[in-house]
Amino acid sequence: MKPTYIPEPFRIKSVEPLKMLTRKEREQKIKDAHYNLFGLNSQDVYIDCLTDSGTNAMSANQWAGVMLGDESYAGATSYQHVIASATEIFGFPYIQPVHQGRAAEKVLMPLLLEGKRYAIANMFFDTTRGHAVMAGGIPIDCVVPEALDTSLRVPFKGNMDCKKLVELIEQYGKDNIGVIIMTITNNSAGGQPVSVANIRETAKIAHKYGIPFMIDSARYAENAWFIKQREEEFKNASIKQIINECFKDADYFTMSAKKDAIVNMGGLLGTRDKAMFEKIKQRCISFEGFVTYGGMSGRDLEALAIGLKEGIEEDFLKYRIGQLEYLAARLDEEGIAYQSPVGGHAIFIDAKKMLPHIPWYQYPAQALAVALYIEAGIRGCDIGSYMLDRDPVTHKEQEAQFEFTRLCIPRRVYTQAHLDIIINALVAVKKDADKIKGLKIVEEAPVLRHFTGKLELLK
Ligand SMILES: *Cc1c(COP(=O)(O)O)cnc(C)c1O
Repeated sequence: MKPTYIPEPFRIKSVEPLKMLTRKEREQKIKDAHYNLFGLNSQDVYIDCLTDSGTNAMSANQWAGVMLGDESYAGATSYQHVIASATEIFGFPYIQPVHQGRAAEKVLMPLLLEGKRYAIANMFFDTTRGHAVMAGGIPIDCVVPEALDTSLRVPFKGNMDCKKLVELIEQYGKDNIGVIIMTITNNSAGGQPVSVANIRETAKIAHKYGIPFMIDSARYAENAWFIKQREEEFKNASIKQIINECFKDADYFTMSAKKDAIVNMGGLLGTRDKAMFEKIKQRCISFEGFVTYGGMSGRDLEALAIGLKEGIEEDFLKYRIGQLEYLAARLDEEGIAYQSPVGGHAIFIDAKKMLPHIPWYQYPAQALAVALYIEAGIRGCDIGSYMLDRDPVTHKEQEAQFEFTRLCIPRRVYTQAHLDIIINALVAVKKDADKIKGLKIVEEAPVLRHFTGKLELLK
């Protein structure tokens, strides 16, 4: 496809100046950060693609809402506004705000896994996986096999493998499974969408066996946009109708509002079960705060109430996903491999293909992330063998399924010129790819080592 850029459905009212370092300065900064992108100071980054979580630009309306935020401890109007927006969009009778997605997981997961052994998902996001484990559960991924082939272009690579799901339930026993989770979009598979047909089928299986069905819904709006483009039944439906269709068979949802609700902090938790809601409220009060603020300040609640609605506007989503599709079309022109078709919030560059001379145990995706920073001040991160910790039992290095360098695109933050800089940097790195060196770890934590690890460039 020819690269086309969908113009911004907004103009810029407030700007944040960026410092432009020289290449020499960047070489020193990344060395000082021990070749770990998380160790860089943000003012030394030109285009920050580390995450799309909480890095969104709020609208003039949201900033006005910040001023109107009601900071009352109990019964704040901003709480009522969030509940009104969220009820309208998700259609759940009981909704609890929390301060971010993992807070919802912390409150809910132990309730669902009480006396149970397993949790099954299309693919667990890392914090969701962590909370399932902390609640004494064993998380099992059950994504369609197409997700693992980066060059295979199929419309819904994030889907649940429903045949395998039934086999897993039969194998482990329905009474041992606490919850079946659908992550939309499927973040860990590269922001790949899930179809309504697949959500319906998964819900049907869950309910046939009497297992609660939950949606991990950080990117509910992007997923709905993909459904509108790719699922025949919904080509004329509104985004709101599609979201309604996705959520109507779910028993629970958890949500990080830091993504599609276009705020910097926030989360939600929903249930249809009144007795369960009472338990959720109790745990929320202990961990997050009183039910009408749930760990958020009134101003953040107000911005969330507005952002939930802005995040489902079609003009916005067309531009938003359009940025990713523009990047993907330019990558196709340049013959650079990525997880395709492109997903909703990031491009995942296939570093194994770009740097074939660097073996997995010298972390090609981290080497590419370092090279992009040196080339143009772009900050991405490794989703590969560097991020994958050692085997917890044998303490041996493990080879990841993919070696991706992930470049996330924050919402309403960067322009077409910024995206072109990303592409030009990738092209420049590819041209001299054989000169890029692998890395070795010189210091690492036993878990989640990629955040704080120290590395050295190999000679
Ligand atoms: C971000 C995210 C979470 C966790 O949310 P936080 O707000 O970062 O705590 C959970 N699931 C998915 C799919 C996410 O993308």
